Amino acid sequence: MSRTSVALLGATGSIGTQTLEVLRREPERFELTSIAGGSGNLERLIEIAKEFGVNRIGVPTNACRDLVMTAMPGVSVLVGDEGLSELASSADTVVNAVVGFAGLPVTLSALEAGKRLALANKESLIAAAPLVERVRHTPGAELLPIDSEHCAIHQALAGASKAEGFPDVRRLVLTASGGPFRGWASEALDQVTKAQALAHPTWAMGPKITIDSSTLMNKGLEVLEAAALFGIEVDRVDVVVHPQSIVHSMVEYVDGSVIAQLSKPDMRLPIAYCLGMPERLDHSWGAMDFQTPFSLEFLPPDTQNFPALTIAYEAARLGGAAPAWLSAANEVAVAAFLNDQISWRQIVETVAETLALYEPVTLTSLTELLAADKRAREVATANLPR
Ligand code: NDP
Ligand code: MG
Repeated sequence: MSRTSVALLGATGSIGTQTLEVLRREPERFELTSIAGGSGNLERLIEIAKEFGVNRIGVPTNACRDLVMTAMPGVSVLVGDEGLSELASSADTVVNAVVGFAGLPVTLSALEAGKRLALANKESLIAAAPLVERVRHTPGAELLPIDSEHCAIHQALAGASKAEGFPDVRRLVLTASGGPFRGWASEALDQVTKAQALAHPTWAMGPKITIDSSTLMNKGLEVLEAAALFGIEVDRVDVVVHPQSIVHSMVEYVDGSVIAQLSKPDMRLPIAYCLGMPERLDHSWGAMDFQTPFSLEFLPPDTQNFPALTIAYEAARLGGAAPAWLSAANEVAVAAFLNDQISWRQIVETVAETLALYEPVTLTSLTELLAADKRAREVATANLPR
């Protein structure tokens, strides 16, 4: 059996590291052929290349390229967005584990080239949904979600009618842990520190998504992600808070049946699902123990203290480039919070103010999307509290 070649872009991060763990356990099935990272962890990137014998490496700048080439003469080093696009076009399976809008070239190029795209990078899909829709039907192209909620829905939809728009599905129900501040009083939320916001109760993840989880913006982005992935209206995507993170999401059918996917929270399970499809890889990541008693709770989200969810639905209803504005403004605001420029509350306030200034465009080209992303970042930056 020939091995499936894998490009892992965003290899040094949280999803990247967990993907490497899956690959290490499946050396006969998969061959890691390309990796890419940002400028933050070049030594780690080189270590990964050496461990897996990877000879194609993507980096963001020429300075990074020179460093990698000095450390590993003879490897091929590709630079910037063009480099990411090329790496995403040249493996059987592409794992997009880059964080933020920077992952866009990976998403578009992998699908355009007819590859399997195992997508963790939700920001690119949310911002570019109409452009992704055009390329995802390229012969050979497959879009599989690593994001645990969407991976759960993908599994729970297995028995659904294949007709467009899922006529026998009433709604998708995304579960949310509620983050570290679930149940906090409004006054307490004014005092939130960076360390508190970075301490997620159930998942260990990169800093950006951890902050997004604390504001519930992650769940808002996931509502848009679900609508784009499954081609379903946002009004048929609901959110329920489930603090244990055991039920990863659910599909409610029109007869009232609800199909859920359960496991312990472990991203290696959805990563392995996307890599192995249609086969299931035989591992016990996330395996449940039903001999030790436990309880599961479900409660409605608190949209008073966590307005991000409402704002994300608004962006979805505005359509066009509004989801791109939402996601770009959020990236600006989260970066400002992590740089100690704004408070936790001001993250979502900045996003709301930016979206209120949204300049409507229909997204028909990459040029329009790049312009919308740039404009949203300018508006968000100008609206950051000083
Ligand atoms: P991390 O911050 O841990 O990792 C991000 C990765 O992207 C790093 O490898 C980073 O490199 C790389 N990167 C950053 N900028 C660039 C760039 N310009 N070009 C190439 N690579 C770049 O993030 P996570 O792994 O937590 O998240 C990755 C994506 O997966 C996000 O979109 C997130 O929303 C999504 N996701 C994550 C989950 C999780 O459990 N972590 C769960 C569900 C979704 P460097 O190390 O050099 O900075
Ligand atoms: Mg998720």
